[in-house]
Amino acid sequence: MCLFRPSTLQVEGERRMVNEASWKGQSIYECELCGYGYTDLETAEECEQYCYSHGSNSPKITRKAARKPPAPNDPIVA
Ligand SMILES: [Zn+2]
Repeated sequence: MCLFRPSTLQVEGERRMVNEASWKGQSIYECELCGYGYTDLETAEECEQYCYSHGSNSPKITRKAARKPPAPNDPIVA
């Protein structure tokens, strides 16, 4: 059983899992599973679908991310 359709073009009005957030004046769409943020909804949903079906994110998708999730091993030290 597949809950996810390949087409993500029509998402308005449908149940959406991707979080929409505003960041630095632009909309960011976050994958709820891995936390990566994308500037376009299509990529964010692609990531979520991948995360759901594979149990982890895809480096091919996350490298398009505009924002990385806060990670414990984040090299940036305040
Ligand atoms: Zn993801």
